[in-house]
Amino acid sequence: MAQRKKICMIYTGGTIGMVRSEHGYIPDSAAFRRQLDLIGDLSRSDMPEWELVEFSPLLDSSDIAVAQWNQLAGLIAERYNQFDGFVVLHGTDTMAYTASALSFMLKGLNKPVIFTGAQIPLCELRSDGRENIVTAMIMAADGRAREVCVYFNGRLLRGNRSTKQSSDQLAAFASPNAPALAKAGITIEYTEQALRPASVGPLELCRFDQSLPIGLIRVFPGIQFELFESIMTDKLRGVVLETFGAGNVPSSGKSLLHIIEKAYRSGTIITVCSQCMQGTVSLGAYATSQALRQIGAVDGGDMTTEAALTKLYYLFSLGLDKAEIKRLMMCDLRGERSV
Ligand code: ASP
Repeated sequence: MAQRKKICMIYTGGTIGMVRSEHGYIPDSAAFRRQLDLIGDLSRSDMPEWELVEFSPLLDSSDIAVAQWNQLAGLIAERYNQFDGFVVLHGTDTMAYTASALSFMLKGLNKPVIFTGAQIPLCELRSDGRENIVTAMIMAADGRAREVCVYFNGRLLRGNRSTKQSSDQLAAFASPNAPALAKAGITIEYTEQALRPASVGPLELCRFDQSLPIGLIRVFPGIQFELFESIMTDKLRGVVLETFGAGNVPSSGKSLLHIIEKAYRSGTIITVCSQCMQGTVSLGAYATSQALRQIGAVDGGDMTTEAALTKLYYLFSLGLDKAEIKRLMMCDLRGERSV
């Protein structure tokens, strides 16, 4: 008989293991463990063996940030050789950010790291958490997706292509610019051509610098860019600009360009993403985006905001110079953008 695979399950917090309190849902370790024990599939002999590691304190994912990304990546790196794969149980609100961050932090990853969670807690009727955990465990043991993924509601998505699309539907995540890596119906079908090839070389952990000043600005009609001038100083190392459509910003008033140019000269890397859920930025396609290109902004292509933001953290944390960061922002490092 083939040896059973070993999976490390990491519970960071989030709805899946939450209970009601007088202040609303909160994560609860004991209640979560009791609910896990009730999932019969997890103790079947045809399931992988698994061990549970928990964050302390458990967190709503709104409270997960760079320090916890470093903690989580460190936990995985320390256990990398002892396990065949990892299932990370995480709140849905910022799951796409954490999954994107980890895809950059874990260079050379050659085992599945599958994020999942739930829209309905395990302790409630109709929880989606049971199926999400069981299928994520099976996918982590399968080993074909050797990268950071999000599994939710029957779809396995590349982590750095995923984004939370719904706060109340069970299909909480979408991957608008890249196909699902697998679909779980009666059988689990992988899309072989969408999977990343095996990496060569050992796992390399890159922790992010928590103090990096990285920003995100969403453009809107009538935006008064002057108000951002005090933020866009040389202290800001990188900023993601969420623009209209294919990379367009209002052209009335030249204040934006002036501010961006000044920021660029003082070293800020400006990466242009789109507010559209699907499609790509194409700087220069319209006159309203041409100017951004001329003053040195980076075309974010079809990266999600989550991927662009965490990629800036990654490249700055590596200590690279500005020209190299600009170049790499436009390259595909972990499947996060189409080339
Ligand atoms: N607020 C919760 C969290 O992100 C929502 C969820 O898990 O679905 O932790």
